[in-house]
Amino acid sequence: MVKKKLNPLTINYQEGVIEDKLWQIRDRASINEPKLVNVWTVDINVGESRIFVEFIRQSVQKMEPVAFQHIKRIKKCDGNHKCLTVIVCSHFMIKEKDDFMHFMQDAPFSFQNVKDSSVVPQNGPPTKELSLEWSNLYWPLVWRGNPNDQILNSYIFDMKFIEATLKQISKKSLAEQASGKQAAVVSAFVNPKNKKIVFVSDHRHDCSPLDHSIMRGIRSVAELEHQKKENHSGKDEVETYLCLGFDVYTTHEPCSMCSMALIHSRIKRCIYLTPMKETGCLESESGDGYCMHSNHSLNSKYEVFRWIGDEYPAAQIGSDVCC
Ligand SMILES: [Zn+2]
Repeated sequence: MVKKKLNPLTINYQEGVIEDKLWQIRDRASINEPKLVNVWTVDINVGESRIFVEFIRQSVQKMEPVAFQHIKRIKKCDGNHKCLTVIVCSHFMIKEKDDFMHFMQDAPFSFQNVKDSSVVPQNGPPTKELSLEWSNLYWPLVWRGNPNDQILNSYIFDMKFIEATLKQISKKSLAEQASGKQAAVVSAFVNPKNKKIVFVSDHRHDCSPLDHSIMRGIRSVAELEHQKKENHSGKDEVETYLCLGFDVYTTHEPCSMCSMALIHSRIKRCIYLTPMKETGCLESESGDGYCMHSNHSLNSKYEVFRWIGDEYPAAQIGSDVCC
């Protein structure tokens, strides 16, 4: 990751805007609300804290889905200065007590007072004030700055390529509108390995009503992969997810069906031009504010940005149309 000062991109961390043009779409309603998870805690002797830390490093970290960087794993026991209460792992890693006890059989330290009643925030708080507040409410936290600043800072953006691709989908969308097409939604699927682009249009009026451009794009990528495999008689690496790591550009904010399909396809990033206030499923101000791409109950997520410049207009589409 580049240091903030050395990042060649201009980033407005407060607003989540890159180069004054790309606005990071997040579930704004839930940024200040912690998503809590129960953790397994035990009490250990002060003298064994180093052995505990090593045990976490060796046996827990590789299996633990929660990033604990913002959480202090160790705190003093109430009323006993020789004892520490420590977090072993989250409920996501081990759910049942029997399984936890089985896991702890080989722990290289003695412990007692096994509990799973404490909760911790899964994600770091955005401000120092909230960090203190959540520390008092739930469990001691470490303040390392707004985690989203680090996320924004570690993004890699090829602005020239992004603009060139947006220009193309904008042009195609306007051309389709000019030729009388009703849902002139155009998408571009970019393969991260070779930057090859698959352009797709909406076909709901020609074929199936579900032939939105994104659905057709996912299918086109699948067909291309299939052909490639047949031509190379299966020598190519088999991809588990066909659009793994793809960037998807689209003229209009995707509907719930399409934004969900993008999750299942394991894309990396979606950049779009026009918000769809009634039918969109990514912005907190669109539709029912579901923010599909960052929904915590779903296993996978992708990053979303809206182009907020006015260089690349898209076709006018009725507000009740799902894109
Ligand atoms: Zn759609």
